[in-house]
Order: sequence, then C-alpha cells, then structure tokens
Amino acid sequence: MSAIPADLPLRTDLVGEEPYGAPQLDVPVCLNVNENPYPLDPEVVEAICRRVGEEAPGLNRYPDREHEGLRKALAAYLKEESQAALEPDQVWAANGSNEIMLQLFQAFGGPGRTVLGCDPTYSMYPEYARDTFTDWELAHRLPDFSLDMETTIERIKALGPAMVLVTSPNNPTGTPLPMEELTRLLEVCSQVHVSGADQSARPIVVVDEAYIEFRDPGTPSAVSLIGRYDHLAVSRTMSKAFAFAGARVGYLAASRGIIDAVRIVRMPYHLSALTQVAALAALEHTDLQLARVGKLRETRRKTAGWLSEQEYHGQPLTVVPSASNFILFGIFPDRNAIFGAMKEAGVLIRAVGPEGYLRVCMGTDAEMERFRGTLVDVLKRF
Ligand code: PMP
Repeated sequence: MSAIPADLPLRTDLVGEEPYGAPQLDVPVCLNVNENPYPLDPEVVEAICRRVGEEAPGLNRYPDREHEGLRKALAAYLKEESQAALEPDQVWAANGSNEIMLQLFQAFGGPGRTVLGCDPTYSMYPEYARDTFTDWELAHRLPDFSLDMETTIERIKALGPAMVLVTSPNNPTGTPLPMEELTRLLEVCSQVHVSGADQSARPIVVVDEAYIEFRDPGTPSAVSLIGRYDHLAVSRTMSKAFAFAGARVGYLAASRGIIDAVRIVRMPYHLSALTQVAALAALEHTDLQLARVGKLRETRRKTAGWLSEQEYHGQPLTVVPSASNFILFGIFPDRNAIFGAMKEAGVLIRAVGPEGYLRVCMGTDAEMERFRGTLVDVLKRF
C-alpha cells in the first residue's frame, strides 16, 4: 500500500491508485511476468561488458539523442526477423515498449482524445490513458478471445478514436491477430475522422507485438505492412523472446510521420548510452539471444497439452490456444486461492485477465516440472 499523506497535492484522479506491477517476490520459480527464463550466453555477456567498458570514459557526455546506431541495428533485425525493409528513420527505441506506448499516447492521445482497445488485454493500457488524460474505450473480444470485428469496427466509426490499439499475440490470452483482420482495421481507419482533431486526421492503428517472435514460424508480423500503411505503428520489445528484459529496450516500427510525432514528446536523451551499447551488443548476437525461442514454443506445446489433460472438480481445464510464451488456463471459481497456494509452494504465476483464469509463463524444464507437480497438488486441495 502506498503511504501518500492527504496534505500532499496529489492529482485528484490519482488518489487511491496503486503503482502498477506484478509482485517481485523471492520465490524459487517465477513464471509470472513472461520473461525468457534462460540467462544470456557467456559470449554475449562478454560482448556487453566490452562495449560498456569502451563507453564508460565518455559518460561525462550525453548520449546520442537519436540513437542512430541502435535504430540501424533494429532495422536490420526487423529485416531479418520479419522480412520488412525499413529505413532507420522508420524505427525508434525507448526504455521498454512501456515507454514506446506512453510516447504514442502522449503524441496522439490527450484531453478530448480517445483510444480504443480490445479487452481482455494488457492491463497497463488504461494506465497510459490515465497518465495522459486520454479516454480509454473498449470493444470486447469474442468468447474465444479473437477480435469481435463487427463490434470493433462499429466502435471505431462511432468514437473516432485517435488510436486503435490491438495486441498480437494478445496478453494475457496469447491470441494472435490474423493479417486479414489487421488489414481490415487499417482500411476502416483510413475512412474515419478522429473526433476532436483536424478534419483530415485519421486514427492510427497500433499493434503491440511484444511477444511476436513466439508466433508460429512462417506467419507474418504487422511490421511487413508498414510500407503500405502510413497510419500503422508496431510496438516491439527486446524484453521477451530476445531475453533482454533487464536492459529495458523497446522499439517502434512505423512511418516517418509517426516516428517524428513521437520524437516531439520524448525526453531529451531518454535512452542512456549504456542501454544503447548493451542493446547493440545483444543485437550483434541475435542468434544466441533467440536460441531458446524454438525450445520455448515446444515447452508451450507440451504444457498446453498437459494442462488440457488435467481436471478440476471432475471437469477438464480450459486452455486458451497461445502464440506466445505464456498460457491462460482455468476456469476456477476461486482463482486467488489457487494462485496463493501455488505461491506458498514456491511457484509464482499470475491471477490476471478474465475472471477464473490463471496465466503461466514458460520456464526451464525444471521450472515447468515443479509447476506441474505443484498444480496437481494444489488442484487436489481446493
Ligand atoms: N506489451 C505487452 C503486451 C506486455 O505484456 C508487456 C510486458 N508485460 C509490455 C508491452 C511491456 O514490456 P517492456 O516494457 O518490457 O517492453
């Protein structure tokens, strides 16, 4: 609980709010924040240390505000990973995709503006909206957690949002967004006026691809559509598949116009020199950083299969198909009891998303074995 005395002039709309975040607890098995569970390869560690050592004497100077080297390396990565031919000025990086998303809200949201999301989805989005005084509206997903295209399109036309924010694969459900649906949203948005903006303004479509590298091989990323649609922005991160959460590097791929809009609201020198060189060193070892992605997909396949064989009170568990590194499963009348008992037994998962569901992130083989054993025990007890 925060301790903010009543005589501090906290913004009225923030009174009673708590800082966002899953608990950071010292438990043996942490499967709660969708990280890559495998530590960095010693070769990458060495490269990072070398780069940081070379950079350190120059830390009396501010870093490259435009982080040009990193944008070039990220454009090359996107070319390799998503077959997207982007120039470095169509790419932008920040401290995690959390900061990317906040910058998008700062540039395109604000008082009198609306952002439309499709829930259940990532629980930080309403916080970016709150922090930028943007209205946050929802079009609910269908029971299988895919987009309800008709309702979403109706809402876009009725609201004239400045941004439509879709997540692929979605968190916490793992649901991917088919390209045809994204294309349809982009086409609809190009015909809609943004309420409260200049007559010519059209909504931008933001795709949050935080987990995209876990998709089925051969399926496209939204990044491949950027050349065709100037009002498409794709947010990505090095935190998940790329195994670099601690370094805090997220990035945006979009038209130059969108990138230039974000450049207006960024803090000067927002990305430290150390972050920039560490990210460059990791990107120079992309193969090593992504080496476990295939293994994690396999862990997901096995875990989903195992979960669907489990029963709770005589009923099989519901397991939501996932294209990510986590799985949403349920449905439990008291999910908090199960979450709490798992935590007591040293396995931290997450009670998040639609009522009755729990989310587990893919860990190492040993961690998953402990997860399975603990879940079997706990389900017997409750
Ligand atoms: N988007 C989604 C959907 C996420 O789940 C997360 C992290 N949980 C983020 C963005 C932010 O990640 P980061 O700031 O580490 O890039």
